[in-house]
Amino acid sequence: MYFYSSVRLGFYQLIPLALSLCGVLAWAQAPKPQDKPVSSACSAADFKAMAYSINDVLLREKRALEWLARYGADCPPAEIQSIHNNLAVWLGTADTPKVHLTVKDLYQSKQPVASTLEVSKNTAPAKEILPSGSVNTTSTKKVKTLPNKVDEKTAVSKEYQLRESEIAQCLPNEIANWNDGSKDTQMISPKTVYVYDHQSAPTGLSEDAVFGVLQQAATAWEQCGGQNTVVLKRDFFEAKGSMKIAVVWNDDDKLGTIGLANITKKTLTLSPEAFQNLKKSNANRNLMETLQMVVSHEVGHFQGLTAHSRRCVDVLSYYTNDAGEKCSIRDNGILPKHFEYRSMLPTACDIQRCRIANKN
Ligand SMILES: [Zn+2]
Repeated sequence: MYFYSSVRLGFYQLIPLALSLCGVLAWAQAPKPQDKPVSSACSAADFKAMAYSINDVLLREKRALEWLARYGADCPPAEIQSIHNNLAVWLGTADTPKVHLTVKDLYQSKQPVASTLEVSKNTAPAKEILPSGSVNTTSTKKVKTLPNKVDEKTAVSKEYQLRESEIAQCLPNEIANWNDGSKDTQMISPKTVYVYDHQSAPTGLSEDAVFGVLQQAATAWEQCGGQNTVVLKRDFFEAKGSMKIAVVWNDDDKLGTIGLANITKKTLTLSPEAFQNLKKSNANRNLMETLQMVVSHEVGHFQGLTAHSRRCVDVLSYYTNDAGEKCSIRDNGILPKHFEYRSMLPTACDIQRCRIANKN
């Protein structure tokens, strides 16, 4: 059986990404597993290690709440921010509303000054907006300008919050696909080793950076129940019972896509040309964010997920199909034009769908 699938750049290439930096920074600050050993102080790596060590969802939620009760109050802002931003990925379906709110409260309590996005919640301008109905010129000006700014920020904030909640939680019956591939199957192997070859990678992209991206994707998908490891080609000797997937850079297939998962050949191909074109076409785009998204998407195909998701936020999504139909956002939301809505790592629905396919 020959099967391949890919992320088509065209669907999100046209979206300006000026505001997506928030998401990029958040991701960039996520600690690598080797950054810090498990310790008694609050560290995001510790929280992550705890979450990944427990398969049972209820127990994972319980331990997460216990951990937050114990360490949360003393957590440095950077650590709690990292937990906040990676919660959905690290906890999977154990990222319940209770855990989510606990982390969110901790996160907000540690923000020294309201960020641009959080300003919308601040009702401070209300005093100026409602100055007892006077027709004084100064106050009229304020009435005209302030509410507009607040509304704008509220809208942006709401879109981010909606994205965040769609990443974190998969509601009943929410999983939906485009039916553009065969039915989901079990993953290609319960143990997979991704062997990365940096040869022919685009200039300016370091081996470490791509390796890190692969590792983030491989680890995040482990919530589905399989074991994924990543090794450099020069360090690889034998698969030891794992299925080997070669991760390479080449433009042999010339498909115009940045990534391609070939299930038959067991290769994950990244296109140097597509990557360079992307770099040229949009200087503001964070290329590592895009690469993370693409790699997470392709690794998802090796987890047994064949068709593409119809939920815009899922890492396995397509934004539109060939007939021009659009992906969906919870509560009939509209796809924002100013930031990338698709997640960089598997969402709760991606993971749930994968667990169903793999009966985990
Ligand atoms: Zn795909």
